Amino acid sequence: MPDTLPLRIDGKDVPAADGATFAVHNPATGDHLFDVAHANAADVDAAVTAAKTAFEDRRWQGMRARDRARVLNRAAAELDHRIDEFARLETLQIGRPLREMRAQLSRLPEWLEYFGAVAHSAEGTVPDFGEGYLNVVHRVPLGVAGLITPWNHPLLITMKKLSAGLAAGNSLVIKPSELGPAVPVALAGLLEEAGVPAGVINVVTGLGPTTGRFLSEHPGLARLDITGGTETGRVVAGNAGRSLIPVTAELGGKAPVIVFDDTEIEQAVAGAMFASFIATGQTCVQGARLLVQRTVYERFVHRFVERTRSLRLGDPLAARTQVGPLVSRAQRDKTAAAVDRAREQGATVLCGGRVPEGAVFDRGWFYEPTVVAGVTPDHELWYDEVFGPVTVVVPFDDEADATAKANDCPFGLAASVWTADAGRALRVTDRLDIGIIWVNDHHRIDPSSPWGGTKDSGIGSENGLDAYRAYTRAKSVIINSSGRPFDWYATAEDLRYS
Ligand code: NAD
Repeated sequence: MPDTLPLRIDGKDVPAADGATFAVHNPATGDHLFDVAHANAADVDAAVTAAKTAFEDRRWQGMRARDRARVLNRAAAELDHRIDEFARLETLQIGRPLREMRAQLSRLPEWLEYFGAVAHSAEGTVPDFGEGYLNVVHRVPLGVAGLITPWNHPLLITMKKLSAGLAAGNSLVIKPSELGPAVPVALAGLLEEAGVPAGVINVVTGLGPTTGRFLSEHPGLARLDITGGTETGRVVAGNAGRSLIPVTAELGGKAPVIVFDDTEIEQAVAGAMFASFIATGQTCVQGARLLVQRTVYERFVHRFVERTRSLRLGDPLAARTQVGPLVSRAQRDKTAAAVDRAREQGATVLCGGRVPEGAVFDRGWFYEPTVVAGVTPDHELWYDEVFGPVTVVVPFDDEADATAKANDCPFGLAASVWTADAGRALRVTDRLDIGIIWVNDHHRIDPSSPWGGTKDSGIGSENGLDAYRAYTRAKSVIINSSGRPFDWYATAEDLRYS
């Protein structure tokens, strides 16, 4: 790791044109980790220009899809070897426990393999244009895609976007989060070593209101793909919209976990804890609202609180740690403020709700896993995304009450439904205005499975065939194969325009 992480433009490691840098700190200890080049407008422009040149001379899009797939498979194998190194680096930057980081990263080669296979097997279509014509519709790459990614899963989210975009033959300019930039930069190098030509993947590190804004305003993009907070999504989509650049936006969430009384209680509690506290609650699909059938509410809450109290907080590099720090002071303060506000508004904190005490917590941004009861639609905690280890417990009466409460939210990203009754699971999933729904599970993801939300959770989806398709457009070639002579102005007959 160099002392200052460079930009990656046109296959070269370069500093920012004006030499500017910013620092990345370890959220568990506050220690300075390294400095990072802070790209300005000229750097972003250089990256887009390099990507555009690489696209136009067809060094990547011109390769046969099977050859692009081969490169992606080589990269997947190399990534597999480097999981431990990357997982450690992610943990140092964002504080997520190493055991979780390893589990997540070990899946990532699958994205390169999946989208390589999709590219290899993708076909155009031949619509029925009519007698005497052959209409061939190719799916072609778009050009330069801008990817803006968050810190909470720095490599996973970069990988979701990058693998679809690259497989389809696009060139990329990636703006990783300022809080976790190191692994996306390393990934670009790894892909080039595997055979992606220089200039196809460019990385501009920097802050959101500077580097991110310059990228989202750049008219040279053919597409913008962002994951981040809902307000950031609105700004970025507005910028892109002015240049008529299509956007995919994966934004905030407030996932309900709906527990029916036919579920085995220990399993429901284990599932809800998995939903609520992995990544210290800093996931877009975090189980932030536990809706529990009134008949088992008291039993569920008792056991859930008991188990939440037993979670082991601490050094995220230690093997036994289950919950690490929040990513930054700002995120910790936002979490504490949300809980304090709920208290002021009359809610009851059943456990947590404070900064833990002890030497190991002194220098990092820790907050205890927190369960809050008595939250109603009049409270901010009902609607607002906290993005921390805080969840609310709310009783419901029946299926209709459960779905009404689950849908009473500005977000529509994800939900889980816990029940032993298959018919009930189908009825409830049918009525949820939500993009991703697990039944008797939570958080599960696969490169083939669409990932995207409704309402304030965004536009479009990652993963699966839809995501690949969104990185292509139709090119329709209409061939007159009739051999008949044709002169529009030389005929006296009635014209038929078809
Ligand atoms: P964020 O919105 O602060 O930042 C996301 C990215 O946008 C970063 O790279 C940032 O630098 C950039 N950015 C910020 N302001 C910008 C601007 N004005 N113009 C251009 N770029 C800008 O989000 P975060 O704190 O990094 O991530 C947490 C958020 O992301 C949460 O709301 C979470 O729900 C959401 N998220 C959603 C998904 C999903 O799949 N829907 C997944 C992970 C995270």
